[in-house]
Amino acid sequence: MKVTDHIKQAQSTLFSIEILPPLKGKSIQSIFDGIDPLMEFKPSFVDVTYHREEYLYKKREGGYLEKVSIRKRPGTVGICAAIMNKYHVDAVPHIICGGFSKEETENALIDLQFLGIDNVLALRGDSIKSEPEFVPEPGGHAYAIDLVKQIGSMNKGKYIDEDLADVAPTDFCIGVAGYPEKHFEAPNMISDMKHLKTKIDAGSEYIVTQMFFDNAQYFEYLKKCKEQNINVPIIPGLKIITTKKQATALPKIFKIDVPQALLEEIEKCNTDAEVKEVGIEWCIQQSKELIKAGAPCLHYYTMGTSEVTRRVASKVF
Ligand code: FAD
Repeated sequence: MKVTDHIKQAQSTLFSIEILPPLKGKSIQSIFDGIDPLMEFKPSFVDVTYHREEYLYKKREGGYLEKVSIRKRPGTVGICAAIMNKYHVDAVPHIICGGFSKEETENALIDLQFLGIDNVLALRGDSIKSEPEFVPEPGGHAYAIDLVKQIGSMNKGKYIDEDLADVAPTDFCIGVAGYPEKHFEAPNMISDMKHLKTKIDAGSEYIVTQMFFDNAQYFEYLKKCKEQNINVPIIPGLKIITTKKQATALPKIFKIDVPQALLEEIEKCNTDAEVKEVGIEWCIQQSKELIKAGAPCLHYYTMGTSEVTRRVASKVF
């Protein structure tokens, strides 16, 4: 079922989660072990992130360096199929521009259609570590809007090869990313919002936000979206801080702020076990306020920490 239909039919705020594929070599059981404890809260959908290749230089005999391409977390599509098969819940694969030509994207979307996947989260993806900025694949997309347009075309039965006859249109519900604290590359918020609006006008039907720790950021974002005439559901993304290190690492990685009040609580802690309690309590309060404000769904970035997500969900849903 489409995410938007879940939202339309809901009597109250929905619960959803996002998981990462396991590191290459790990079994699918680690995914199930993460989802099992959360099933009692009936997630409406489970997002599975996509991780592109990275390049490493490996030292070989004779001292020369070989450039090797590795994907640390493959398996997004297979995990989606496994989740749908085991839990009968909608799985939402993330698809990205980076590393894909348009043909490869089209073929990936055909696989998803054949698997009965109804939703995709369309993203640009970040630059790989060895590149200072995002470089599109030759023949690929530079921005998420171009990916949204491609999916939108397939939804209308238009594939790359215009000579294809009797094509089956896809019927994907397209989600996109939004940034209450601005995407780090955007010169300003107005510019970022305008680009968000183009993604919606091109057929995206819902937005999932980057994590934030101050609900005021989300409420302000809702206002800005209204001003841009963006009227699709805006699903807040939530992360539970579990270690002291995350207080400085998350802002660096995701270009978001940790509010001073939360930071002060974290700084008072002597151990990560204490930080975890602070993080859980903060997220419970955030979640309760968002539900009170009528958020359509709360989307938890579990990042391998389903136990803490379970503790939050048990106080909130
Ligand atoms: P875009 O919408 O393309 O925007 C990127 C930047 O370009 C923005 O600054 C925007 O303002 C600007 N821009 C957009 N269109 C134009 C244009 N036409 N001309 C000029 N500038 C433009 N990454 C992954 O690799 N895998 C994942 O699974 C993944 N999941 C995510 C899930 C969520 C909910 C979020 C919020 C992010 C996720 N990301 C993921 C990270 C995401 O790929 C990065 O944040 C990336 O840098 C931007 O992606 P986007 O889709 O927002 O890009």
